[in-house]
Amino acid sequence: MIPYGRQDVTEADIEAVAEVLRSDFLTQGPAVPRFESALAERCGAARGVAVTSATAALHLACMALDLGPGDWLWTSPVTFVASANCARYCGAAVDFVDIDPLTWNLCPVALERKLEQAAREDRLPKVVVPVHLCGLSADMAPIQKLGRRYGFRIIEDASHAIGASYDGEPVGCCRYSDMAVFSFHPVKIVTTGEGGMVLTNDEELADRIARLRSHGITRDPDRMTREPDGPWYYEQTELGFNYRMTDIQAALGLSQAARLGGYVDRRNALAARYDESLASQPLRSQTRSANGRSSFHLYVIRLDLDAVAVTHGDFFMRLRDAGIGVNLHYIPVYRQPYYAAMGFNSADYPEAEGYYAEAVSLPLYPAMDEAKQDRVVACVKAALS
Ligand SMILES: *Cc1c(COP(=O)(O)O)cnc(C)c1O
Repeated sequence: MIPYGRQDVTEADIEAVAEVLRSDFLTQGPAVPRFESALAERCGAARGVAVTSATAALHLACMALDLGPGDWLWTSPVTFVASANCARYCGAAVDFVDIDPLTWNLCPVALERKLEQAAREDRLPKVVVPVHLCGLSADMAPIQKLGRRYGFRIIEDASHAIGASYDGEPVGCCRYSDMAVFSFHPVKIVTTGEGGMVLTNDEELADRIARLRSHGITRDPDRMTREPDGPWYYEQTELGFNYRMTDIQAALGLSQAARLGGYVDRRNALAARYDESLASQPLRSQTRSANGRSSFHLYVIRLDLDAVAVTHGDFFMRLRDAGIGVNLHYIPVYRQPYYAAMGFNSADYPEAEGYYAEAVSLPLYPAMDEAKQDRVVACVKAALS
C-alpha cells in the first residue's frame, strides 16, 4: 500500500534524539526553548510555546483568550474534529461557517453573512478558528477585518501549514491573527512523534499559555499573590495541565525543522506533477492563490461526479484495492454524532456537503518517488474510466 502520508526520519534525527537521552534533561531542559525559538524565528512570530499536541495547543489558546461557557467559537466544518473540540473543553459552544467552493477554506463571504445575522441575534463568536486546509492558508486579511468590526479573536489552525506562506509572509507570523497552531503528528510536515506549538506576537498570551501547559504554576515573584515563603516557593494561580513537550520530542522537531524548506519544495514539486498528469481528467484540485504558497500537507482531488461513470465510494475502493492508500479529509465535523446531537443541519452547509461528496486525498509525502506517483496517477485514471 502506498500510504497517503509518511514521516521522514533521518540518521541525523536519530542522533539528535540519542544526544538528549544521554544528557541530563529528558524534559524541561534546553531543547524545548531552542525548538520554540527556532520556529518562532523562522515564522516571524515573537514567541512559540511547545506543547504535547496541536489539540493541546488549541485548548490552551482558547483558554488564554478566556473562552468559556456562554461563548461561541466558529470554525470550518471541513477540518479535523480538534479544531472544534477545543471550544468544548472550555465549555463554549461551537458553530460552523461554510467553506469557499474553490479554496475549500472557511469562506470570508459566508462568515460576513453569518456575523450579520449573529449580530442581530446577539450571539456573536468570541473566537474564530480558520483552518489552512491541505496547507493552503485561509484568506486571512478579510477575516481579520471582520474580527475588528465584530470583536472576535482569531486562532489559526495551521496544523497543515508549517512552511506555507500567505501574502508574502510565513504562515505562523500571526499578522492577521492572535495565535497560530502547528501540529507535529507523524503524518504532518515536521514531526516530534506527538507535539504541537502555539505561535503569537502577544507576550502575555505566550506567558499565560506557558503557565497553563504546566499546571497553571508560576515561579515569577511579580505574578504571585503572596510574598514567597522561601526560595522553593511557587504558586498555582489558575487551573492548568501537564501539556509539556519533552526534550526528546523537541530535539527531533528541531532536527526535522532544519529540513522544512526542502520538504515543502518537494511537496510542491509532487503536487505540480499531480496537477500536470491529471489535468485532462474529470476532477479538480484546490484553487491556489497567487500571493501565497501551500505547504501541501495534503493533495486532495474532487471528482466531477456529472462527468464520471464511477461513484465516489467505488472510486475510493478501486484505489484502495489497487494498493493506493487514499483517504478522505474530512468528514464535515457537524456530521459527527457528538456534534449532530447539538442540532446541526447538513443543509446549512451546501459547500461542505459538496466537498464531502467528491473529495479524495491522494498519497503525498517527501520520500514518495516519481515511479510511485506515476503508479498513483495510472490507478486514478484506471479507476475513473
Ligand atoms: C492533525 C490536526 C489537528 C490535531 O493535531 P494533533 O497534534 O494530532 O493534536 C488539529 N487540526 C487539524 C486541522 C489537524 O489536521
